[in-house]
Amino acid sequence: MDHTEETLIVIGAGHAGVELAFAARQQGWAGPIVLLGEEPHLPYHRPPLSKAFLCGTADAASLALRQATAFDTAAITLRLGTKVRAIDRAAHEVLLADGSALAYTRLALCTGGRARALDVPGLEGAPPPNLFSLRTQADALAIAGAVREGARVVIIGAGYVGLEVAASARKLGAGVTVLESQPRVLARVTGATLSSFYESVHREAGVDLRTNASVRAIERDATGAVSAVLCGDGERLPADVVIVGIGMLADTALAEAAGLRVEGGIVVDAHSLTSDPHIVAAGDCTVHDSALYGRRVRLESVPNALEQARSAAGWLCGKPRPNHAVPWFWSDQYDLKLQMTGLADGHDQCVVRGSFVDHSFCAFYLREGRLIAVDAVNRPADFMLAKKAVAAGVQADPRALADTGIPLKELLATAAPA
Ligand SMILES: Cc1cc2nc3c(=O)[nH]c(=O)nc-3n(C[C@H](O)[C@H](O)[C@H](O)COP(=O)(O)OP(=O)(O)OC[C@H]3O[C@@H](n4cnc5c(N)ncnc54)[C@H](O)[C@@H]3O)c2cc1C
Repeated sequence: MDHTEETLIVIGAGHAGVELAFAARQQGWAGPIVLLGEEPHLPYHRPPLSKAFLCGTADAASLALRQATAFDTAAITLRLGTKVRAIDRAAHEVLLADGSALAYTRLALCTGGRARALDVPGLEGAPPPNLFSLRTQADALAIAGAVREGARVVIIGAGYVGLEVAASARKLGAGVTVLESQPRVLARVTGATLSSFYESVHREAGVDLRTNASVRAIERDATGAVSAVLCGDGERLPADVVIVGIGMLADTALAEAAGLRVEGGIVVDAHSLTSDPHIVAAGDCTVHDSALYGRRVRLESVPNALEQARSAAGWLCGKPRPNHAVPWFWSDQYDLKLQMTGLADGHDQCVVRGSFVDHSFCAFYLREGRLIAVDAVNRPADFMLAKKAVAAGVQADPRALADTGIPLKELLATAAPA
C-alpha cells in the first residue's frame, strides 16, 4: 500500500484529539489526517472554563489550543461542528451525522466525557434555564451570563469543578452555597488533610459549604426555572442559579456500539491501543491498567490526555512510546495553585511540610514508607521534585519530610528508591 494515502481519522477535537493529530504528523504519519469535532469552536483549553474564563479574565480567543493556521501548516483537516454517529469497523468507515461516510486506515477515539446529570425529582421535562453543568465553552458562557453580583448560587458537588466554580462565583460577588453529599470535599481525589484545608479556605471566603448534604428535589416556579434546592435534611435553599458538578461520564457510546471493549471507559493499553488493532483511544474516554498502581484507573486530566495521545501517535507511526507517566493534575482556587502528583488512595500516612496559614505547603502521602502521592499548594519548585520522587517510588523518612529545615532537594535525592 502507498503509505501516503493511509488516512488517520481522529474523533474528538479536545486536548487528546488535537495532540494526537499533531504528534502523529510530527512522528511521520504521511497520509491525510482528519480531525472531527462536534463543538463549533476552534479546539480550546478546557481548564480555564471554571477559572479565568468564568471570571472574565480570559476571553475565548485566549483559550485556543492552536491557531487555525497551525492546522493548515501541519496539513491536518479540521472539521468542526461535525458529529460522528457511528463506526463501521468492518468497512473501516465512520458515519457522520449528516449521513456521509469517511474511510479510515487507522482511527483514534478522543471523545472525552460529559457532565453527569443530576437525577432528582423536579427535573422531569425541559431542563430549567437556570440549572447548569460545566463541560464546554458553551456551558461556561451560559454560567457566566447567569452568575452576577448578589445572585444566590447553589453548587451541587464539591469536586474540583464545583469548588473552582465556587471560588470564581465568589470573585464575581455571588452568594455561594456548596452541597456535598460526602463527609468531606474532594473525597474522591485526595486525602482528608487537603479536604479540611480547602473547606476552611472556602468558608473564609464566605462560601456556605455543607458536607453530608444531599439534594432531595429541585423546586421550580411557574416559568420552569429553579426556585429552590430542597435538601435531604428538609431545608429549602432559595436559588437564582444552580450548578451541578457531580463528575463526568466517559463518552463511550461510539466505542460501545462498535463492539470495542468498554469497562467504564474504552479499555486501552500503554500504547493507547483499544481491543481493535486499527483503533487507538486517548484521554478522558479511556481506562487503563496502571502498572504503577497495579489496578485499573480512569484519569480525568489534561496531562493524561496529552501523554496517552503521544503514545497513540507513537504506536500509529511505528515508534512505540508506552505511557507509564505518573498521573498529575492542577487546580486553581482563589490564590491557591494546587499541583498533585500520584494517586493518594491507599496511603497509610500523610505528612505535611509547610504552613496551612501561609497557604504554602506540601502533603506527602506514604504507603509502608513509600511516597505514592504529593499535593503541593503554592509550592511549584517542591512539586517538581516531588513528581520525580513519586515516579521513582522513593522510601522517605516522615519526620525529615516534615522538617522544613532540611531542603527537600537534599531529602528526596538521598531517599532510597523502594
Ligand atoms: C471545567 C473544567 C475544569 C478542568 N480543570 C482542569 C485542570 O485544572 N487541570 C486538568 O488537568 N484538567 C482539568 N479538567 C479536565 C480536562 O479538561 C480533561 O481531562 C481534558 O479536557 C480531557 O481531554 P479529552 O480530549 O480527553 O476530552 P475533551 O476535552 O472532553 O474533548 C473531547 C471532545 O470530543 C468531542 N466529541 C465527543 N463525541 C464526539 C463525536 N461523536 N463526534 C465528534 N466529536 C465528538 C467533544 O465534543 C469534545 O470536544 C477540567 C475539566 C473541566 C470540565
